Amino acid sequence: MDSQLMGKTSVIVLDNHTPGDVAKAMIEDGRQKEPFYIFDMDEAYRRVEYFRKMMPRVEMFYAMKANDSDKMIKLAAALGLGFDCASPGEIRKILELGVSPQSIIFAAPCKTPDWMMYARQSGVRHTTFDSSYELKKIKQYWSDVGLLIRIKVDSDSIYKLGDKFGCDFETEATDLLDEAASLGLKVVGVAFHVGSSCSSAHSHVEGLQNARALFDYELRAGRGMSIVDIGGGFLSDRNDRIDQVSKLINTTLEELFPERSIQIIAEPGRYLCDTSCNLYCNINNIRRVTRGGEKVNMIYMNDGLYGCLRFNDPPQTVKRFGRPEGVINEKLEKTILWGPSCDSTDRVMENMEIMLPACTPLDWLIFTPQGAYTFGFATPFSCLPKPQMRSVVSQQLWAKLKDSKVFNPEDFEQNPDISAPLPSSLPPLIKKSTFLKSYTLKTN
Ligand SMILES: *Cc1c(COP(=O)(O)O)cnc(C)c1O
Repeated sequence: MDSQLMGKTSVIVLDNHTPGDVAKAMIEDGRQKEPFYIFDMDEAYRRVEYFRKMMPRVEMFYAMKANDSDKMIKLAAALGLGFDCASPGEIRKILELGVSPQSIIFAAPCKTPDWMMYARQSGVRHTTFDSSYELKKIKQYWSDVGLLIRIKVDSDSIYKLGDKFGCDFETEATDLLDEAASLGLKVVGVAFHVGSSCSSAHSHVEGLQNARALFDYELRAGRGMSIVDIGGGFLSDRNDRIDQVSKLINTTLEELFPERSIQIIAEPGRYLCDTSCNLYCNINNIRRVTRGGEKVNMIYMNDGLYGCLRFNDPPQTVKRFGRPEGVINEKLEKTILWGPSCDSTDRVMENMEIMLPACTPLDWLIFTPQGAYTFGFATPFSCLPKPQMRSVVSQQLWAKLKDSKVFNPEDFEQNPDISAPLPSSLPPLIKKSTFLKSYTLKTN
């Protein structure tokens, strides 16, 4: 019942309630006994619309590895986005929705021959490369594909991708373009990715300048390119960041790529989905201990490092949920958060100083934002379950989505009981009358 169920429950259509009301109702009702997500479809929708408004020339190819829950990818498909897929499994998921393979870029620069053949047979027509060996494989297994050369840009990102992917603009890029041409392969564009959670807008400018230089190189060589892929890495926590970065991208595009015949695409992941999910986590136990002469509350939660709470960095935050905030003079206390496994490294937000009011095992904690790169990392370690997801949508957005071919009527539930629990992840009971011979435990 675990991962298979993820996101497969229907989206509840809200009348006068907010997503926070739903969480509160579920918790207060008491039938929900396991950690859960609330996925606020309207928030993801607002992100898509805002990105479109800020960068009208840029077409979005949603980087689905950030959040591939059923409702998120359906929403992206219903809104007409393309997809950045990074494996055959992701390609299959998107094609199953009825999206055209021509709306997919297989944006992994290192692919096995099997992956290439799968993508080609599925009708996907674009991929990236950053090495000579990749070109040789492509020549053999996918010679008719449209290629984007992935170049590295230096950046101030938290998660640097340049260490792993992207050829060097100065020393490698033109050689690779020539090699592709000599193999008879078609390079149709340039791609870069400033790294996830990039805080410097200038990285995008540098990427665009280098892309322009490669466009010019190809033109001088009598070849032409038509796609600029500015990747992802847009920050999710504050809207003024996308305001700044989009202005700079727009002016740089006008300056360097004024030709309307050139298609500009982006692969936002985190930006579109991160703020749309919060994780509500209940508490199994609490111990008050002294560590280094200091009183510390150790909270044993029902989700942890091997589940969805893998990340240590801001903007991730944790708060006690439900009880009114700021009860007079309630002191914040030093807190350690443990996950549910028996592993002592299963400590959540270890690098952050966590200060919470005193909690009891009846309290719930809310982690936010939790929509990007969270449940995709959950492991099957120790048979621990992964939190289920309750998706919610407003009447207004439901009215826009319900006739889309991507959604089925069963995807939505109207007049819902907002306090209803999600399915339990407890395994079915096993009943047997004969047993194997093993060591058995004494009973007295
Ligand atoms: C992961 C990835 C993205 C998305 O990055 P975000 O930081 O989530 O926006 C975009 N493009 C490529 C090639 C990626 O690997």
